[in-house]
Amino acid sequence: MDAFWTEPDYDDHELVQLVRDPKRGLTAIIAVHSSHLGPGAGGTRVWHYGEPKDAMRDALRLSRGMSYKNAMAGLPMGGGKAVILADQDRNKTEAMLHAFAESVEALGGKYVTAADVGITEGDIVTMSAKTSYVSGLPLDNGSTAGGDPGPYTALGIYQGIKAAARHRLGKNSLDGVHIAIQGTGSVGSGVARLAAKDGARLTLADINQTGASALADELGGQAVVPDAILATECDVLSPNALGAILNDESIAALNTQIVAGGANNQLARSHHGEQLAERGILYAPDYVINAGGIISVAMEYLCRSEGTPCLIEDVEARIGQIPQRLEEIWTESGSSGLPSDVIADRMAQKLIGR
Ligand code: NAD
Repeated sequence: MDAFWTEPDYDDHELVQLVRDPKRGLTAIIAVHSSHLGPGAGGTRVWHYGEPKDAMRDALRLSRGMSYKNAMAGLPMGGGKAVILADQDRNKTEAMLHAFAESVEALGGKYVTAADVGITEGDIVTMSAKTSYVSGLPLDNGSTAGGDPGPYTALGIYQGIKAAARHRLGKNSLDGVHIAIQGTGSVGSGVARLAAKDGARLTLADINQTGASALADELGGQAVVPDAILATECDVLSPNALGAILNDESIAALNTQIVAGGANNQLARSHHGEQLAERGILYAPDYVINAGGIISVAMEYLCRSEGTPCLIEDVEARIGQIPQRLEEIWTESGSSGLPSDVIADRMAQKLIGR
């Protein structure tokens, strides 16, 4: 068997830890990809994996992704991620979460955790009983930032869409710009509401069709069946549901000038960024445009560590840098002829000293 460190998803990760506590029902992997810019920060995912090696692959890929995302967001944080290998029903218990949190605590701050798929704000509170290296805790009042990252992620995406409309369509406002949104959950609905205020024309889709229709009615948009959204004729396609939705087939069917949305890992394979560019579609690299949530979570953590209040205006100011970062990527992409996802990766790698 090849050595672990020659595995394709292993990218000189600084720390990969397997945590087992059978009595408390925990098997987890914690991965820190890079601490070049600060402690490895990224959420914990609870997932049922077919094979343990799939969990390892997820931890390795996701933690590297967090290094890139945090670096491009200008945060003094490295990249980390944890996965808890759950049963088929993804059951969680307090004992399991405590065991996990104790293992995070034992790393002494090398890894800072937060919510990801399968972890609720309540779970974060449970973990906080055993570790201080956790963020995304409920807010005491409305005057400080932090808590649920969804609205901050949506804010960054909305601003990124405005930047894309300026760059590609020459428009200074979203008034009349047609945005097709896949997924009307926490992030997608937030993007829809912000864009509607600017007069954008909205087409929405979600597998929860009742929810998508209700939101479309509220905002004066239109709802379509989930299968129709990717090929909808629009100015901006905003994927806010699943990853890996941009593949050979879906890219060939796209009828948009811009793809700018919050779903993680939208490109099914690395060459799909090039395919988008060949079709003349402006792509906002997902981990750059969707960084609003981690900006909030990281700044909440840093403020708590320093004992200072985390001000909403400071978080919003950092999120306000997302459009500029995208503009730099697109400008460099235009002058070099390289796809925007490749440019973003190169910029991120430089920032983390790789
Ligand atoms: P969510 O669960 O609140 O919403 C996702 C929505 O997508 C749900 O309403 C779901 O029904 C819908 N959906 C699932 N499959 C679909 C399909 N095939 N077609 C149409 N709709 C479908 O999740 P969220 O927090 O809004 O996150 C959305 C995406 O953004 C995810 O990919 C997530 O990883 C990413 N993201 C979220 C955050 C955050 O702060 N919440 C931060 C960064 C990235």
